[in-house]
Amino acid sequence: MHDKRQIADPSKAVLTINLSAIAENFCDLSSRLAPNCQAGAVVKADAYGLGFEEVSRTLARAGCGHFFVADLEEGVALRRILKKVDIFVFNGPERNTEATFDEHALTPVLNTPDQVQSWVAFASLKGGCNAVIQVDTGMSRTGLDMAYLEQLVGGNEKLKSVALRFLMSHLACADEPEHPLNAQQLAKFSKARTLLGNPRGSLANSSGIFLGPEYHFDMVRTGGALYGINPTKNTNNPMNSVVNLEAPIFQVRNIDSPVTVGYGASARIDGPGKIATIAVGYANGYLRSLGNKGSAFIDGIRIPVVGRVSMDYITLDVSKAPENKVRPGKMVELIGPHHGIDALAKEAGTIAYEILTGLGARHTRVYRNGRI
Ligand SMILES: *Cc1c(COP(=O)(O)O)cnc(C)c1O
Repeated sequence: MHDKRQIADPSKAVLTINLSAIAENFCDLSSRLAPNCQAGAVVKADAYGLGFEEVSRTLARAGCGHFFVADLEEGVALRRILKKVDIFVFNGPERNTEATFDEHALTPVLNTPDQVQSWVAFASLKGGCNAVIQVDTGMSRTGLDMAYLEQLVGGNEKLKSVALRFLMSHLACADEPEHPLNAQQLAKFSKARTLLGNPRGSLANSSGIFLGPEYHFDMVRTGGALYGINPTKNTNNPMNSVVNLEAPIFQVRNIDSPVTVGYGASARIDGPGKIATIAVGYANGYLRSLGNKGSAFIDGIRIPVVGRVSMDYITLDVSKAPENKVRPGKMVELIGPHHGIDALAKEAGTIAYEILTGLGARHTRVYRNGRI
């Protein structure tokens, strides 16, 4: 977990996380749902790198009563923070962890025949336990095969000790509305629900919400959109942006005669010009693939990354920025209003999810609350 006792160091980058924007995004997504469908929040991986505790408390205050985490450890950590909410654990119970799930009132997602068997056995001893069943409808990652589900239903006394909270599945191409796999997964999921006697269902992630109400069922599992990632990648982002990453200029170098910049001498500046160095590198989650590709902004003026990204530094070509804006201590925007996480991810050849979860704890984290 993130250590909040930080030493004030003005050379460090500042990651600002707007908690009010997360709360507004939760309310916005909830308002888009089919009647009787609820939004659950996915807070796995330290709430996508933004801080498990702060983010979870914010969401609970905004009215979120259902949370999803990746594994047992995250589930136990969340239960310490939030006593009254429902917590669902995607990985489900590995052997001999059943009692820990029960002790912390965590609802497992059952993904494999082994998990079904051991949870059913545990639930029989306890006289009944909650569970979510995941069926694989085309992602081929986690979840029971359709054939196994049919077999399970055939001998249905097996499931009697389990109160099925809902049936879930996960979409592989939700961010591509035209992809034929979406409709195929929807059909398979509907068939699986019928098999099980129409339990409550949960299919959509953030992007799945925007595929239409027929994808909503009873619960959606929103992660990225809560944190400001565009769930509709080919149109304008309907979500409020949540993170800003700013870093002060560490050093400015005047270039009078031709030089190369950074490891591998991959870039060259003939001069006259200027380079500004910033103490953010790939060990801060600023991906190495941004070398000679990334953009930063000084007071709204685009400043290109020049040379390779190193572990602790990047170098920016500030030759075209006004003289008075280029000085040590001047803040540079790496993620913010001029350059959102999706735009930065595009430059890096990745998705905003990887940018967010990689930002890590090496920055000074500041939480903002209040008007967005
Ligand atoms: C991570 C995850 C989600 C959240 O997806 P987003 O695209 O971030 O909304 C939902 N369901 C499952 C099974 C996941 O693993």
